[in-house]
Amino acid sequence: MNTHLPVADGRAVRKYVGTLARRHPTMLYGALALHVSAALAGLAAPRLLGGLVESVEQGTTAHHVDTIVALLAGFLVVQTVLTRFARYLSQVLGEQVLAELREDFVDNTLALPVGVVEDAGSGDLLTRTSRDVDQLGWSVRMALPEWTIAVITAVVTFVAALSVGWWVAIPCLLGAPPLVIGLRWYLKRAKDGYLRESATYSQINATLTETVEGARTVEALGLGPRRIAASDDDIAASYRAERYTLYLRTVFFPSMETSYLIPTVLTLLVGGYLYTQGEVSLGAVTTATLYVQMLIDPVDRIVSILDELQLGAASLARLLGVAQVPDDREVSGREPDGEHLEAEDVRFSYVEGRDVLHGVDLDIGVGERIAMVGPSGAGKSTLGRLLAGIHPPRTGSVTVGGVGLVELPLDDLRGHVALVTQEHHVFVGTLRENLVLARPGSSDDEVRAALDAVDALDWVDALDDGLDTEVGSGGRAVTAAQAQQLALARLVLADPHTLVLDEATSLIDPRAARHLERSLAAVLEGRTVIAIAHRLFSAHDADRVAVVEDGRIAELGSHDELVAAGGSYAALWDSWHGRG
Ligand code: ADP
Repeated sequence: MNTHLPVADGRAVRKYVGTLARRHPTMLYGALALHVSAALAGLAAPRLLGGLVESVEQGTTAHHVDTIVALLAGFLVVQTVLTRFARYLSQVLGEQVLAELREDFVDNTLALPVGVVEDAGSGDLLTRTSRDVDQLGWSVRMALPEWTIAVITAVVTFVAALSVGWWVAIPCLLGAPPLVIGLRWYLKRAKDGYLRESATYSQINATLTETVEGARTVEALGLGPRRIAASDDDIAASYRAERYTLYLRTVFFPSMETSYLIPTVLTLLVGGYLYTQGEVSLGAVTTATLYVQMLIDPVDRIVSILDELQLGAASLARLLGVAQVPDDREVSGREPDGEHLEAEDVRFSYVEGRDVLHGVDLDIGVGERIAMVGPSGAGKSTLGRLLAGIHPPRTGSVTVGGVGLVELPLDDLRGHVALVTQEHHVFVGTLRENLVLARPGSSDDEVRAALDAVDALDWVDALDDGLDTEVGSGGRAVTAAQAQQLALARLVLADPHTLVLDEATSLIDPRAARHLERSLAAVLEGRTVIAIAHRLFSAHDADRVAVVEDGRIAELGSHDELVAAGGSYAALWDSWHGRG
């Protein structure tokens, strides 16, 4: 199931670029002013050369020629110095903007609803974080400044050419139609072409990550050849998409080259004719021709960088699209009154139209231990995720102290209810960083107390660098049991009053299990606990047992009550113990 994440439209992209530009007005206008000055300095050469041709025609001295050459050299130096600073400033601005863009993107990504990330698959998000960010980086660092310089140079040069005589407009205008036609033909097709190209990269990534993440299943079921075929299909689609954009370029670029030459040739022809008619001087024809020729370079850059800018815009559209995922949470600012967790008439579906929970009511007492049991696929984990505020209910409500879980800011939510699964991740960074992310600003004493609570302080203290030890990929390897302890220590720091335990997968490494169970018991101490028990015996110790069947709570009561009632729990219990 790969619903791709949304892509922002052109308007949203332009608006965002506008806001980015307005954030740094001084640097932006400074860089623009420098670029304009540099372009102006570049205009001197054709004027001076035109004047030189004229004076040679009328007879001149070597001294005059020397002066002109010295002036030419002087302007060249000025232009070089101005260009250097203009570029420097644009690069600094580019890096700044890029850094902000990255931060915005990371913020948006972290704010994505969990359900959306699961549906979109990690491939699309990976492509956006890697390939699109790179592409955009290139555009912002190179393409955008180059393009701006080219536009400024072209405009300034064109005005200068017109200042030689109005007739220069004719060759320029005649060169425009083929250019515009070629450009429109290309641009009309290019954006979709490049978007499709990027989408095929996402697909390659998606299939690949799926294969890797599900490697065991692939192996167990002998799906290898099928996964290879799926990847081959993705690559073939990507090849077709790339061929198409290549075709666009092979038509586009040659036609551009041709249209560049037209104005220069025409300027010489028109100018030459006007000269023979005595309308303009030889110097003016020289200057005009040089100006028109000078236009080729910036116009070519404008056109060819458009290509890169389009790639950048397509990437930006995909990055901004992440921000357009509608939030499934709406912070209301209301404060929960107490720690009472309650689900009322909760319905939920992963796939539209197919509810997996059909009106669940569950009122959980503060400090109560509830065990959820029931057949696989009944909806226990789903209910657990809703009780922990990971998914919002489709209808109905899950509230803590009278406030909906989806109304709480995520950071606050984790201080109320947390979901504990067997999945735990060690992030790249120091041990301290791995822990304090549960409660930013925790002191070392608090961190150590949390480690102590889960029985992990001894091995952490035994490390040479203690809390400063680098872990995660590339850092020191921690065992699975240690990773689990770190996850538990994070919980102690976050200090939620209610825990939802999903033991969907069996406890890891049996040798460490006993030890870990002790750590876990310490964490559970004094908290409300909803345990999704996949093994019946843990239900025995609970205050109440909820039997989930087919997306409903079929039975609810203490172990003894349910056994006495003689329903499905009693039957299950019998089959476990009755004939033991
Ligand atoms: P249990 O924990 O009792 O085994 P689950 O809550 O995992 O049950 O699953 C309840 C139902 O929801 C099942 O039919 C399952 O196939 C479906 N389901 C679970 N997770 C997803 C998901 N991410 N997307 C779509 N359907 C899901």
